[in-house]
Amino acid sequence: MRVEIIPCLQDNYSYLIIDENNNSACVVDPGEAKPIVDYLKNKNIKLRYILNTHHHFDHIGGNKYLKKKFGSIVVGFKKDINRIPEIDVLLEDNQIWKAENFEAKIIHIPGHTSGHICFHFFQEKLVFTGDTLFSLGCGRIFEGTYKEMFESLNKIKSLPEETKVYCGHEYTLSNLKFCIKYNPENRNLKKKAENIKKKIDNGLPTIPSTIKDELECNIFLRANDLESFSKLRDLKDNF
Ligand code: ZN
Ligand code: FE
Repeated sequence: MRVEIIPCLQDNYSYLIIDENNNSACVVDPGEAKPIVDYLKNKNIKLRYILNTHHHFDHIGGNKYLKKKFGSIVVGFKKDINRIPEIDVLLEDNQIWKAENFEAKIIHIPGHTSGHICFHFFQEKLVFTGDTLFSLGCGRIFEGTYKEMFESLNKIKSLPEETKVYCGHEYTLSNLKFCIKYNPENRNLKKKAENIKKKIDNGLPTIPSTIKDELECNIFLRANDLESFSKLRDLKDNF
């Protein structure tokens, strides 16, 4: 199983999870179809599943076209049945979704939207966090409460440290500046900053991160209580 990072739209990332033994793939959050189609062109890979973390247009924009072109099955959260276009498979919190060799635990992580989920591929130790956890940041709270977002991040925090984190946007540089401003003494953060800058200078994605890195460096995950988390979220909204 390998993950291919596919930049979409302005600063979105879609991900292809490719099972090389089966020539079969899932795509996570296709914000648009074209980059996915381009990647798959002349490759012997069948796009079997479309996995959506949430219903925002920049995560589902490619659903319809890709489903039509490849006959893919659209997989998303049950309560977003009316908001995720072309949805076929309805997921619930804590369920294991299994198809072919793909197997992920579904974790409901509301806050950014009420129906946001993440896909935890526990065997491969990968998590697709959409717009809830970013590298060095977290999503804006659009439909939930601070408490819901804080609790959702706590669920992600409890995943094994070596888990690779694949998020929905390349926001890392701006998040880094915020973390440095409010946590300037963090040595791990300084180390990660060098790494991030190197990648950006070379035109590479800063993704994936890891749960370990995020625990050490992401100021939102380092907030110990709801009050300090909420303060940080407000500061970031105006940063
Ligand atoms: Zn979103
Ligand atoms: Fe988004």
